[in-house]
Amino acid sequence: MGWGKRLFDRLTDAGEAESLAGRVLLDERYRALQRQIPFLYIVILSNLLGLALAAGGDLSAPFKAVTLLVALIAFRLVHWLNARDRTLAPERILRELKKTWIYAIFFSVGFCTWSFYLMDYGDSDAYNYVVLFGSLAAIGCAYGVSRYPAAAKIPLLLVGVPLSGKLILTLQAAHIGMGVSLGVVLLVLMRLLSLQEEGFKALVESRTGMNLERERARRAERLAKAEKAKAKTIADTDPLTGLANRRAFLRILGRRAAAATRSAEGFALGTVDLDGFKPINDTFGHAAGDAVLKEVGRRLAAAAVGEGALIARTGGDEFGLLLPGVHSDAAARSAGAAVCAALQEPFRVEGREFRISGCCGLTLLSRDDCHVEEALVRADTALYRAKQNGRAGVAVFSPDMDEMHRRRKQVETALREPEAKDRIGIVFQPIRDLATGELRAFEALARWDHPELGRIPPDQFIPVAEQINVIEEISDALLAAAAVEAKKWAAAVRLSFNVSAVQLCTAGSAERMLAVLGEAGMDPGRLQVEVTETALLVDFEVARRNLQSLREAGARIVLDDFGAGHASISYLREMQFDGIKLDGSLVAPVADSLRSRRLLKGVLDLCASMGLPCVAEHIETEEQMALLRELGCRDGQGFILSPPLHPAAAAALGAPAVRRLGRRKAA
Ligand code: C2E
Ligand code: MG
Ligand code: MG
Repeated sequence: MGWGKRLFDRLTDAGEAESLAGRVLLDERYRALQRQIPFLYIVILSNLLGLALAAGGDLSAPFKAVTLLVALIAFRLVHWLNARDRTLAPERILRELKKTWIYAIFFSVGFCTWSFYLMDYGDSDAYNYVVLFGSLAAIGCAYGVSRYPAAAKIPLLLVGVPLSGKLILTLQAAHIGMGVSLGVVLLVLMRLLSLQEEGFKALVESRTGMNLERERARRAERLAKAEKAKAKTIADTDPLTGLANRRAFLRILGRRAAAATRSAEGFALGTVDLDGFKPINDTFGHAAGDAVLKEVGRRLAAAAVGEGALIARTGGDEFGLLLPGVHSDAAARSAGAAVCAALQEPFRVEGREFRISGCCGLTLLSRDDCHVEEALVRADTALYRAKQNGRAGVAVFSPDMDEMHRRRKQVETALREPEAKDRIGIVFQPIRDLATGELRAFEALARWDHPELGRIPPDQFIPVAEQINVIEEISDALLAAAAVEAKKWAAAVRLSFNVSAVQLCTAGSAERMLAVLGEAGMDPGRLQVEVTETALLVDFEVARRNLQSLREAGARIVLDDFGAGHASISYLREMQFDGIKLDGSLVAPVADSLRSRRLLKGVLDLCASMGLPCVAEHIETEEQMALLRELGCRDGQGFILSPPLHPAAAAALGAPAVRRLGRRKAA
């Protein structure tokens, strides 16, 4: 850059277009000039014409110069009037401002020259007019472009200062007075312009900062909103399949049911449960299981077409359906059949082919019948019926399923009664050493004899208690009562207690159980917790943490019902157990079938090789017992050994040897 350009830039100093603050400053300057400059030209014009008229008489010579100036001013006035609402890029503004600076020089020199001419060649009054109009023009112009001080100073310097100098140089007292006072005014004005510019720059800077802050805050707010939406999506999505999860499903179901009460539009609610999935998971591992589930999700989503249809993964291998526009049993059945048919094709994972199937239970919700909880129970009831129909069975809830449903409802109502948990009693079934007959433990089994409903077996009411979220209360009461009984037994006799799936998968339930034991004054080291593999399927991590806490407190953990349908060998690897309870289905056929004996032997060998002692359940005959003993099964439980006993009978059987002896003597 040459020195000439540098000097020019310095003189015309308008700012710079590189930084954000610079650009805002330029913009503000330009906007102010757009408003002010037209008035400025009106001031110059009126001053010019005023001077021309005041100069009077001999207008011919000077009027030519005036005409030229007036024409130029009119030209610039039109330019600025046209530019009133124009928005320019910062670089263009910079150019416009510099042009304004040049015009200011041009006008000022023109005005000054003409004024001097009038002073030198006009009549004596012209002197006074020039002083009046010249200073007015200089000050008015400076004020008019005050937002651009570099230009505002030009009329002061090129009109005001020469005028003041000329007045002083006349060396006449009155003129010197005028010249000096004009000079002082000019100096003050220039200082004011500088001060105003500083204030203006500070204002623009702070406004730019504020705008930036505001923009930053807005951006942060947008980001927070996006994060919130993302978190909500994650909270509502099943990470494996990408489908809605149970939480989202129940919420949407509730919303649609509420909408259905206000319109004629009903819909179908369905539950799909997979058959044959667990063995894949157990045999080929979670990765294969996950791949199958993903594909199931994809196929179900493709099968459940129709506007507004929703597929969700509501459990391990359970899916929920919402099918809008399905109003009849027939339509619901065919939608359910389509969904099940989508699972018929084999699943190919890592070069293997898997075959699974799904059963579907459906129920209709309409304006008059859209109670969500009831609908969920009805869909479950229909699913239960569908499963009875065999593989890929479909069933739509109908009143003939009502008996089952009614019983379930009755159990539910009974469970909701406040005194329910106090009415549920316990019995204790002995677990003995098969070789020595020594009593090792009592398994606590819940018993509920309801005054109207009769005996309700635990495998009927426990799942309902889980569903309506009263299982923890009931389980706490049972554990407390069992612990009180256990204290009557010899210290070596353990209390074996069943923990339900929901309970095991609720964070903090271990601490709750330990607190119950603490209150009852029972040593947790005497507790044996029985868990089933289905419990582990629901939320493996929470279950693992709970079992870990119980173990740390001294409790033993045993895997219950091992071998019931889909025994999960993988759990033996992933979770630390202290023992295994062999399901009755492994024990029952051993006396009649060689294959069953071999299978049982294999399972016992497996447990032995892992150092896990076994309890065989459901031993009903001497033959079964002898065989189990022979195969090396350490402990046993079953009717042949003892049926479940009332607490008093258990207390008598389990009492410490000294007490038993004393009692016998007394008898
Ligand atoms: P489980 O833990 O496998 O309990 C053993 C079941 O087998 C008991 O049934 C018991 O009465 C029965 N049983 C015992 N010996 C024989 C036999 O020789 N032959 C046959 N066929 N059965 C025998 P129960 O009491 O009806 O309990 C059924 C299931 O309900 C239990 O299976 C357990 O999973 C659950 N359950 C029972 N009480 C509770 C409880 O307090 N809490 C929880 N969460 N579940 C419980
Ligand atoms: Mg058990
Ligand atoms: Mg069992």
